[in-house]
Order: sequence, then structure tokens, then C-alpha cells
Amino acid sequence: MLDRNIILVIPVAKMSEEGNQIEEFEQIDFLKDRHVRFFQRSLQVLPERYSSLETTRLTIVFFALSGLDVLDALHVIDKDNMIEWIYSLQVLPTEDESNMQRCGFRGSSHIGLPYSSKGPGMAHPYDSGHIAMTYTGLASLLLLGDDLSRVNKRACLTGLKALQLEDGSFYAVPEGSENDMRFIYCAACICYMLDDWSGMDIHKAIEYIRRSMSYDNGIGQGAGLESHGGSTFCAVASLRLMGRLEETLSERELDRIRRWCIMRQQTGFHGRPNKPVDTCYSFWVGATLELLDVFQYTNYEKNRNYILSTQDRLVGGFAKWPDSHPDPLHAYFGLCGLSLLGEPELMKVHPALNVTQRAFQHLQQLQQAWRDNVSSCT
Ligand SMILES: [Zn+2]
Repeated sequence: MLDRNIILVIPVAKMSEEGNQIEEFEQIDFLKDRHVRFFQRSLQVLPERYSSLETTRLTIVFFALSGLDVLDALHVIDKDNMIEWIYSLQVLPTEDESNMQRCGFRGSSHIGLPYSSKGPGMAHPYDSGHIAMTYTGLASLLLLGDDLSRVNKRACLTGLKALQLEDGSFYAVPEGSENDMRFIYCAACICYMLDDWSGMDIHKAIEYIRRSMSYDNGIGQGAGLESHGGSTFCAVASLRLMGRLEETLSERELDRIRRWCIMRQQTGFHGRPNKPVDTCYSFWVGATLELLDVFQYTNYEKNRNYILSTQDRLVGGFAKWPDSHPDPLHAYFGLCGLSLLGEPELMKVHPALNVTQRAFQHLQQLQQAWRDNVSSCT
């Protein structure tokens, strides 16, 4: 490993004399193959400290799968098996449809129901979908090339609608949970992918987003809460997916959000004033700036250098900070941050839906076929 580093450093120093060192550095320093292996491992076995995340395993699977897609390396996994496993997590309606408001996708098989990817669903008092699992489940099926034909859309949308509160926000699960901007974003992604907004009251959701705009021009998780890079992304991306961004926010308000986001760049980006920079915000804030058409005014070199300073050169992946352990979330969003910068070996990412442009185009083709099908039936 040490030898490899020495070999890598020498050409960089040489390149700097010839100018154009950043481009050459990009080619050498980004360890694509190690990241592919990092995500492969994340799909197979994880350290014990991840055991508490078992109920939300599907999100980790999404980071790994979408990470492999951004790396253009999905060929290393058995896609058909993975698609079957994801469908086995779909909470399907029981014969009497008494559980419709609990439908969606669950995070793993932790509840102990028999493995099945076909209906009807089985009644179980603790079984239900989780809004983030439904979002990441659908996104994972999409990027694997599935046509979503086995998704029970009516059940997913009924389950989603049941999670919305009077103030426009969403619970994650029917029993109740935190409710904030993250779950508005999950809901918007679900409706966008299924091409059906009957799963939410858009007007109420937009009102919630407007109430979450803070005095300092960023957007918080809810009304009166501190502006945050993650919730600002969730709000702006949701409005874009709804097709209501320019209608909801005036040009002056958009400019203020642009300014708040631009100010988040230090070397990489942080999520809030006076916080340390963190790899994942290169995507959360970077994608928001991209959606607001001003990402080009950021400093690409400092951003890229920060992300790469958190790259684990031995086992692959990215951490939130240099010299920290890499994890699937930061590995994925590190790649997405580099993709926004135009890293040559990476696929382009759709900034609002947070999947590759290739997966996004696949969705557009599917939706066109669904619409053609409906119009030929009427
Ligand atoms: Zn982070």
C-alpha cells in the first residue's frame, strides 16, 4: 500500500510543473476499483456496529447499489436476485385489504414473515412500510432496470397518503414517528417515480415547506427550526419534483437560498454555519446549487480536494472527515458530490431524484409507456 502511494505521488509533482495538474491528479487519485469493492462488501457483510440499522437495511442497500451505478459497475452484482429480494420487502395488501394504509416497503426481513415476493400479503400487527424504505426500494428497483410492474402502486400510494399529517409533513411509519422535511422529500420521490401525486396533499406539503423557511434564508426541518443543508436540499428538490419550484418561491427568495447555500462552502461544504465540513454536504448543498443553476460559482478544486481527502485508500469508500472510517452513506454521497463536479469516471447524477441520469431516463421511458398504455385503453 505504501509503495502504491509513493508511485502515485511522483507523477503528480511532475504534472504540476507542466500545468493542468488538477485534471491529471483526477485520473490518478480517484480509486474507482476500491470503491466498487467497498460497495460490494457493503452488500455482503457489514461490521457489527451496523446491527442497529437492520430495520433500515434497504437504505444501505440503496447507497451501495446507486453507488455502483454511479461507478458504472452494476455488472458486479446479480441484479435479478437483488430485484427479487427488494420485492420480498413490499408490504402487500391482505386478501381483505384491511392493511392498505400500512402498505409500502419495509427495510428488511427482521419481522420474521416467510420470504415471499408475491401477494396476497400476510396480516401481522407490527408489519408496515416505512416511507424512506418505500422511496429507496423504488429507486433501487429503478436503477436495477426493473419496470416496476410488480409494485402495487395503489397500495403504496394509499399507505403514503395515510402518513401525511394535517400540517403537510409526513410520519415515516403508521404508528407515528418524527415528521419533518426528510419525509416530505421521500414522499415527493415516491409520487414522482410512480407518476401519481394522489399519495399526498401537495398544497399542504408546499405550505409546510414555506413555513420552514428561516430568518437567515436557509430552510429548516420544520417551522422555527435551524436552517440546514440537508433540509434545504429536501425542500428545494421536493418542489422541483412537484414542478412547483418557481411558482412557490419568488426570484428574490430563490436568490436568498442560493446565497445561503453558496456560503456553506469552506473547502468542501458544511451543513450549517460554524460546523465542520462533511463529505455528504458536497451533494446535499451541491445538488441544491445545481438545481438553482448556480453550482458553477462554487470552487470545484477545493470541493474535490476535500472529498478526496476523506477517501479511504485502503478499503475504499469515503468518510465524513479525513482519517475517519468510511461508511456507505458518505461513500455514496462522496461519489455523488464528485459526479456533480464532472469526475470523468463517474456517471452523471440527477440532482433532484438522486439516482444516475441513466436510471432517470429509464424512469422517463417507463412513464411514457404507462401513459401510452392508459391513452390506448381509453
Ligand atoms: Zn455527513
